[in-house]
Amino acid sequence: MNAPFGRRLPQCPCCRSPLLGWPAETRLRSCNACYRPIIRIPSIRHAGVSHLRSLLDLGYTIYGVLTLVLVATFALSDMSALRFVKLFSVLLFIVGSVLIVEGYLSIRTKVGFSRRKVLRSQAAYWAGVGRFAAGVLALCLMLVGLGI
Ligand SMILES: [Zn+2]
Repeated sequence: MNAPFGRRLPQCPCCRSPLLGWPAETRLRSCNACYRPIIRIPSIRHAGVSHLRSLLDLGYTIYGVLTLVLVATFALSDMSALRFVKLFSVLLFIVGSVLIVEGYLSIRTKVGFSRRKVLRSQAAYWAGVGRFAAGVLALCLMLVGLGI
């Protein structure tokens, strides 16, 4: 996932295919092979070096961090259960949206991911179907949570 930009030919952090023709002033683009949105983030430690990250992975990370903060806040404060459910429903929107986009892209490109492995063809297609269904379920749960 750490692909320094500028030292060697940049690779997609998702499927490892080469990213050709990335304009220097552009920070966001999609991979030509898997269509995942990729963002270029400048390194804090090294000047002139950038890291490539999947925007969908950032969505998962944001969801995870916010969920931990919400659960800790609920446990350590006098937050009501109703407020916790409503805030958790908003977080379900984030992960549901990411799952739907990732599922759709896996179905369309037949390039998918499981943990640290790149899936291709039928395995990627069915993984995408599963992610898409999980995303739709998350959005349905969000609607239920907001309707309480
Ligand atoms: Zn890719």
